Amino acid sequence: MATLREQIATTALHVTKYRELMRRMRENRPNDDLELIRKAYEFSQKHHAGQTRASGQPYLVHPLEVALVLAEMKMDPVAIAAGLLHDSVEDTSVTVVDIRKEFGEQVAHIVEGVTKISALDFVTREEQQAENLRKMMLAMVDDIRVVLIKLADRLHNMRTLEHLQPERQQKIARETLDIYAPIAHRLGMGKIRGELEDLGFRYVDPISYQQVEEAVEARRKAGEAFLGRVEQIFHDKLNEAGITAKVESRIKRLYSIHKKLQRQHIAVEQVYDLYAMRVITESVQDCYAVLGIIHNLWRPVPGRIKDFIAMPRPNFYQSLHTSVISEEGTPFEVQIRTEEMHKMAEEGIAAHWKYKDGPVSAQDEQRLAWLRQVVEWQRDVSDPGEFLSTLKIDLYPEEVYTFTPKGKVVVLPRDASPIDFAYSIHTEVGHSCVGAKVNGRMVPLRFKLHSGDIVEILTQPGHKPSRDWLGIAKSSRARNKIKHWLNLHQRERAIEIGRKLIEKEARKYRVALKEIKDEELLKIASDYGVGRPDDLMAGIGYGKFSARQVLARLAPAASEPATEGEGEKSGGIASVVRRVFGGDHNNNAIRVKGHGDLLVYRARCCNPIRGESVVGYVTRGKGVAVHALNCPNVMNLMYEPERRIDVEWSRDDETPTSYPVKLTVYCDDRFGMLKQITAVISDTQTNIRNVEARTSNGQANVDVILDIADLKHLENIINGVRKIPGVHDVQRLQRV
Ligand code: MN
Repeated sequence: MATLREQIATTALHVTKYRELMRRMRENRPNDDLELIRKAYEFSQKHHAGQTRASGQPYLVHPLEVALVLAEMKMDPVAIAAGLLHDSVEDTSVTVVDIRKEFGEQVAHIVEGVTKISALDFVTREEQQAENLRKMMLAMVDDIRVVLIKLADRLHNMRTLEHLQPERQQKIARETLDIYAPIAHRLGMGKIRGELEDLGFRYVDPISYQQVEEAVEARRKAGEAFLGRVEQIFHDKLNEAGITAKVESRIKRLYSIHKKLQRQHIAVEQVYDLYAMRVITESVQDCYAVLGIIHNLWRPVPGRIKDFIAMPRPNFYQSLHTSVISEEGTPFEVQIRTEEMHKMAEEGIAAHWKYKDGPVSAQDEQRLAWLRQVVEWQRDVSDPGEFLSTLKIDLYPEEVYTFTPKGKVVVLPRDASPIDFAYSIHTEVGHSCVGAKVNGRMVPLRFKLHSGDIVEILTQPGHKPSRDWLGIAKSSRARNKIKHWLNLHQRERAIEIGRKLIEKEARKYRVALKEIKDEELLKIASDYGVGRPDDLMAGIGYGKFSARQVLARLAPAASEPATEGEGEKSGGIASVVRRVFGGDHNNNAIRVKGHGDLLVYRARCCNPIRGESVVGYVTRGKGVAVHALNCPNVMNLMYEPERRIDVEWSRDDETPTSYPVKLTVYCDDRFGMLKQITAVISDTQTNIRNVEARTSNGQANVDVILDIADLKHLENIINGVRKIPGVHDVQRLQRV
């Protein structure tokens, strides 16, 4: 039990913090309504009451410190309020619904985003996935304020890390270096990144930290004196040239030094940019003028001049860099940039909030230009205030980040399907994929995956890929695997067919295929321009070569000259497919234009009926599949346009045919409805094969399977049924 004195002391602590927060907000954003912040403070105070941090301080200090970091970034009241509430859903009984009720949709959405990211356990996953995790985190959140709150949260947690157990310290510090510091870097926030890195370094590698710190401390005094002298010389020259500029100097940050030492295997004194002077000018022109002055004063180190103004870094950092050697022989780096470039380098994406108020000039527009390259915004840009407060980030728009049930990250192209996911796990998983669960729910294979989805693939041994998958799969890996499988299996089948055809032909001439020597087969194969006997058989199977001609070459004596010649060629595919699969069944109704004797069949996916517009597709080994022109598979199939073939309904009606067609009638569930439907159908002399009805909430779906002669017949029935009172719609199902 805290004593009264302690209670008063802790209350005083967060009241002080709260006052500081409000003071800063009034300074930064004098026109904003801060009521939301006051409400969030009171709400947070109420719900975190009695909780303490590992440091022993009241918990409330943490959200207040986070809000202060955000206020320093000059964030808007919505972000500050969300910052005050950021741990309430995770650590108290408060729900997102409560927050929405109290603070509105925006604050609730941001708090939900922060909570979602906190739930991710980054470090238990493989280290090489760090880059993916950073990307995933950025891709998962749709409001940049979520990331900024997370960074502020992490910064305060790192500043107070000393109070935690060593194991937790390691884990959090590692995560900071792997995930959060690089995100700050990606967003151009140099200041936060630098602090996160140095804090992380201290816990992850305390020995190296101490070494670097000692080496730097040993040089600090001399270094600062040196930088003071250099600054003085430079200032005089600047005045002579009549250029106004701010000059700062600094000793490089510990973690940056450490990385450089490790990368280049050098000692601290060999680091060219251990000491650095920063010149902040009033114009871009002045940047280049200053560079000239510097190079006149000191000798530049060759190869160290970098123009990031003309060629900005990927995170839009802009500056001129050069390394020079002082008269006393000490190297140092000079960074030259304008005030705006400097703000961008320090605050990155957060720098934009300060332009929210006041009129927007063409210059402001220019400042925002870089952001537009990384940001996809939803609202009209003509209102930049709105634009900034609802900033949507889509930093990696071409990728989605999904998880296996065990938490492994799977990166896929945008709009990827469960099929892509399955193939990314293993080729066999892909081939035998029959379905998927996303976040525990069954989804169709066409489902489009989103970042953060947990995907579980359902497989069935022996299941095979289908050509339709090529219309669904987006990743090149999945597409290649599917194509490869299809080619391979079609080829196997073609070889088998080719072999059978040759054997059959050989039997006619009483030659056994076994008697034919391999060398002979090989020779014939090369005559036909293919490498191996298998290729020859495949060629016969595909209908490219004639079995009879091949046999004539293999056993010239046995073959009858009369059957040889050009006449055989015209048979081509037609004769092959007919022989292999036997005659036609009940499909005299369709003929292939110009090829009266081709084997044709109605594709089962769309079951075209007489009178419908149809198109033929030459399958490998099964003849010509006839699809309805509007069949969804046709679009996917026609990627090999050379296999498309014109077909038409034959005009002879000698053999009347009928096809089963399935209709679904959507209607009210009322007495006598079924009877009326069947009566309308019977009136057209139509055979009903099957009727099934399902009802729910006063509505009914009635499935009927009918024997239909042609399109006209079908249209009559559909029109008749639609006229029944209480029938809303009639749909034909493509499959029966
Ligand atoms: Mn927190």
